[in-house]
Amino acid sequence: MSDEWMEKYHNEIDKFAQETKEFHEHDLSRKDYKGISGGFGSYAQRDDQEHMVRLRLTGGKLDRENLEFLANLVDRYNIKRLKMSTCETIQLHDLSYDQVAPIIWEAADHGIYTKAGGGDNPRNVMVSPLSGVQEGEAFDVNPYADAVAEYTLSVCRDFKMPRKLKIAFSNGVDDSVHATFRDMGFIANPDGTFKLYICGGLGNDHKMGVLMEENLDPKEILYYVRGMIDFFCQFGNYKNRAKARTRFLQETMEPEKLKEEYFRIVDGLKAKGGLDLYKVEEKNIDKQGEGTIVSARVLPQKQKELFSVEYHPIGGVLPTEMPRKMLELLEKMPGVEIRIGADETLWFINCTAKEAAEILELSKESANTPFEHSVACIGAAVCQQGLRNSQSILRDCIFKVREHPEISEVLPKVRISGCASSCAAHQVGSLGFQGFVKVVEKIPQAAFRVFVGGSDEKDNVRFGEFVGVVLEKDMPDLFLALGKACLESQKTWDAFVQENRDDVVSIIESFA
Ligand code: SF4
Repeated sequence: MSDEWMEKYHNEIDKFAQETKEFHEHDLSRKDYKGISGGFGSYAQRDDQEHMVRLRLTGGKLDRENLEFLANLVDRYNIKRLKMSTCETIQLHDLSYDQVAPIIWEAADHGIYTKAGGGDNPRNVMVSPLSGVQEGEAFDVNPYADAVAEYTLSVCRDFKMPRKLKIAFSNGVDDSVHATFRDMGFIANPDGTFKLYICGGLGNDHKMGVLMEENLDPKEILYYVRGMIDFFCQFGNYKNRAKARTRFLQETMEPEKLKEEYFRIVDGLKAKGGLDLYKVEEKNIDKQGEGTIVSARVLPQKQKELFSVEYHPIGGVLPTEMPRKMLELLEKMPGVEIRIGADETLWFINCTAKEAAEILELSKESANTPFEHSVACIGAAVCQQGLRNSQSILRDCIFKVREHPEISEVLPKVRISGCASSCAAHQVGSLGFQGFVKVVEKIPQAAFRVFVGGSDEKDNVRFGEFVGVVLEKDMPDLFLALGKACLESQKTWDAFVQENRDDVVSIIESFA
């Protein structure tokens, strides 16, 4: 970022340090502080003596320098909890109030900007985690995502949007970043262009995006991004935050009108010019591959004899000693990089077979079954907004299911959000759970709303259907019952849920 931008940022951080102190001393309300701290990618946790800082990493790219910075930060600040988020960032949790601003300052000086990591801003730009190395991809979308991230950060002080804006880039192989239902989603086409979807999103009244362009010229993406910001500022709902996300524009405007107004703004920007992306630097991977390796956690890359290794800590909670251990290992592995995916999986890319084997050993505590790869948000023990502790229920269910290895093999990856904000994208889980309070005989009970049949597979993206509410205490037994029925059917989970949907629903209903 420019010197001028940084100077302003340093001044903002100084002011924010003072405001954090005022909040700590109860001179600033929780609501007012949230409105300020979100803009710095920080929130007070449920216990307002503890804070979170979110490190913005475009495309989840955690290069060696940033990994070293993270490892040093963990040591020096004695950080107790690291959570990979579904926006491809790393969240530092349980910080004291006087650690917040110094960490944000240090991160900025290291080139990691937490600014706009929360609040009503363009958020961390997401990218398919294997972009650039994945077999069958259209092309590497990282350079475009980097350009968008830099642009949105550089101008984020110039406008006030009604709420946040999430932008994702898919490399055309998978849609794990959910480009088809973000505020803005770019999907790479094999001919070098992008499909563009806008005004999608999860949360209450979740909606698929509206297809705007089939073959968008990549050099014009900044016109479309700026156009989206201006469009949102012009037509978004500033009066009711619950209706302020871009997806609600689908309710207030007919599809034709929505397209007409969006393109009117984009065309106006193109006529003015100045945002063409003529130069994007594609990264060449010149590392020599070597060897072969077969493991459920290893994928061959499009580069000959190079591999990507996945590591999914349960619930996306990265043990605090891991950044240092990963750094020490990567010191002797030239070219190996880390990416954080939107499903809380960490990928090591550009590994030889031997290096992949060493990474497998380092990360042997990784999830090993689809069920253990389940996605869960940080949950209500930490998050002010949450209703349920998604992390603890996920662990309870995994430990219960582990007692029955044959069942643990068949259950799918599920998604657990602590509330309707849908941070774990429960709507696209084959089984999705949303934190809820169920009143039973006038007594509020911890519960989850259950969704069945969602999918985020490319070309098969669909939202699950709400089928009932189960009490939290019954969830481990619910998974055992579902897994047992699937085993008895002798089908895979996907076939079982498709062909025996009524059985799945009636099992859930029997717990409802
Ligand atoms: S889904 Fe709800 S509980 Fe979970 S992180 Fe998001 S806001 Fe918090």
